[in-house]
Amino acid sequence: MKYHLPFGIRLNKNDSSSYISKEEYVKLSHYATDNKIKLEGFKKFKGNIKDIMELIDDIVVIAQDFPLILDDYKSVVLSLDTASCDDDFSTTVMHIVYLNASLYNDIDYLKSEYELAVEQGKFVQGTDYHSVIRHEIGHVVANKYKIDTMAVAQSIFPGKTKAELIEYVKNNVSLYAATYNDGREFISECFSAYYSNVANDFEINYVKGCMEYGKGGNVL
Ligand SMILES: [Zn+2]
Repeated sequence: MKYHLPFGIRLNKNDSSSYISKEEYVKLSHYATDNKIKLEGFKKFKGNIKDIMELIDDIVVIAQDFPLILDDYKSVVLSLDTASCDDDFSTTVMHIVYLNASLYNDIDYLKSEYELAVEQGKFVQGTDYHSVIRHEIGHVVANKYKIDTMAVAQSIFPGKTKAELIEYVKNNVSLYAATYNDGREFISECFSAYYSNVANDFEINYVKGCMEYGKGGNVL
């Protein structure tokens, strides 16, 4: 999930001061474990652990509809990534969500960058920075349930071509949803809308369509 830093601003990644205390780390680790989520790299977290706990809560809500993301086999991993490109909020590989440490260490900065992107139409109107994780968990769900993200949209609008569907989501979901021709961002931006309670009919039907996959019980 990409964004763009204003020209000339680079984030300082080399400052090793002010990591969270051991007690905070233990508290956060327990919270994650209790919710079946694995953490990586958070000994070097510099932000407020409450923000990461909220993120875990966001994941747990989605897991009520898609329980396989928190099954014992390859449950969601949150990885605090100090090596992220500066233009990534976060990235997902299989069940591992890499969070850009530069942004999550400074949640107010993350909030303002996300807001800016929403104003530009890049992300779903009415969503906030919580949607960064909702978006990425959409990718985890797609990976875990082997969802054909384009096929879900085609089932809502039978007869529309892929190009027409891309155009539709561009106008009715977000610019980012139309990023790739294979529709891989459809699911993430629909999750962003749906789990922020700002979804339109298409986004609701899209997430419901994904839930149909869950009934098949496919596991990676
Ligand atoms: Zn994405």
